Amino acid sequence: TAILASWEAQRPDAIAIAFGGSTWTWAELAGRVRRNAAAQRAAGLIPGDRIAVLDLNHPSCLELTLACAQVGTANAVVNFRLAPPEIVYVINDARARILFVGPEFAGIVEKLREELPTVERVIRIGGADDEYEAWLAAHEPDADADAEAHRATPDDCFVQLYTSGTTGFPKGTMLTHRGMLAHARNSAIDMDLGPDARVQVAMPLFHVGGTSFALLGISVGARLVMMRLPDPAAALEMLEAERITHTFLVPALLAAMTKIPGAAERDYSALKALSYGASPMPLPVMRASLALFPGVMRQVYGMTEQSGAVSTLGPADHSDPAVAHRLVSAGTPVRGVEIKICDPGSGEPVPTGAPGEIWVRSEQVMGGYWGKPEATAAAITPDGWLRSGDGGHMDADGYIYVTDRIKDMIISGGENIYPAEIERVLAEHPSIDDVAVIGVSDEKWGEVPKAVVVAAPGTIVDTQQMLAWCRERLASFKCPKSFDVVTALPRNPTGKILKKDLRKPYWEGRE
Ligand code: AMP
Ligand code: MG
Repeated sequence: TAILASWEAQRPDAIAIAFGGSTWTWAELAGRVRRNAAAQRAAGLIPGDRIAVLDLNHPSCLELTLACAQVGTANAVVNFRLAPPEIVYVINDARARILFVGPEFAGIVEKLREELPTVERVIRIGGADDEYEAWLAAHEPDADADAEAHRATPDDCFVQLYTSGTTGFPKGTMLTHRGMLAHARNSAIDMDLGPDARVQVAMPLFHVGGTSFALLGISVGARLVMMRLPDPAAALEMLEAERITHTFLVPALLAAMTKIPGAAERDYSALKALSYGASPMPLPVMRASLALFPGVMRQVYGMTEQSGAVSTLGPADHSDPAVAHRLVSAGTPVRGVEIKICDPGSGEPVPTGAPGEIWVRSEQVMGGYWGKPEATAAAITPDGWLRSGDGGHMDADGYIYVTDRIKDMIISGGENIYPAEIERVLAEHPSIDDVAVIGVSDEKWGEVPKAVVVAAPGTIVDTQQMLAWCRERLASFKCPKSFDVVTALPRNPTGKILKKDLRKPYWEGRE
């Protein structure tokens, strides 16, 4: 928030955010954030409280996040792709006191209203019956707002982003002031990002790829150009029309962008860094992207629990034929981040080049999972190493290769899916006795979930019915794209399903 005030003082009339044909200057943005903070205080919110946002991308989500930092509250950003029962779970988990909803979700929230006991008030953002602007307008920022401002400590939660959970339910990842600032500083240097930059915010704000990337732009005083939804054609057009200098995209979106007719005829000469990551990059997509955006491709390996990027592979390593083997690497640690490869069992470092689990230590690390001290303790060692759950190795030059997943997770188009969530839902179905969900490769999404089920005696598994069951309870990207019926699932002596064995027939021919 001191950062916002400094850009307000230094360049009040420069554009801070452009969105859907409107713009906000630094003076306007800072003023709106102060009003927002005053409105939160007037509503009785106190430090530690949570609010929640359920909307497609909109600048108000960032305003709320920044205002929360002034009040000591935190914005729990809800994944807008979730199904109604999942939305209820997240809002209740956050114990949100005010819920801000976009026009697309107002109807759903109205239906769910009784299932959200902690929500005292619903405020609509945008659309014909906007309430947010009136809410801001009704609250003058206090003249001495700064004197009254909550004194945040570096370890306070700055924003709460939800990640899918190994236990079948999403967890609120508390990103701290210290962590977000460290991420912004570490990544801005890495990407040569400064006040003249024009930063495309294409990815959803409920992910670090949206929110952390946007805050990175704000921290250096750059102009954010925000998209409501990650649409490939619109994203391409924006790169040219807005003279975008920096963007972050997931491989599935990038793949779709490279296939848009006429993509090669546009002018991307303003582009200095096209960062991509959040899921493995298929080589064909890499080649097509390099042809379209030569000299600016930058891979990012990161995770919510580390506020965003922890390693990058820069443009030089993308184009130098002498180091072509590095194209499948996730690069070297960003400044301020330590990475080591450990034996996941003993926690001992493995020799150079040997496979193990990727462990990360930095100031960027989360403050913990909201209300889940055991899960936090399981994720971070006492001396501060975060277990990524990713398998990989480091070569003699210090390059990291992400080659495997130790955690049971599927990444579909940049969205993480924990099979446990789908298995929990399917196991509740009366005609299913046993179930395992695995990721199988998919040309468009990278991976998609597949359910392998054992039918209950005397029942027949009807795929359409299973799908309908899932659709009611799970975000559509989590719903299995195919079902296989088997007589038994492979299990180890302790009863754990052997996912590796189960995946084998489907992963044959890959790598
Ligand atoms: P999230 O917390 O949703 O950002 O997901 C983090 C996970 O996404 C990591 O632990 C990895 O499994 C995966 N991931 C992120 N970046 C990459 C990358 N560049 N290559 C491969 N996997 C990645
Ligand atoms: Mg992800």
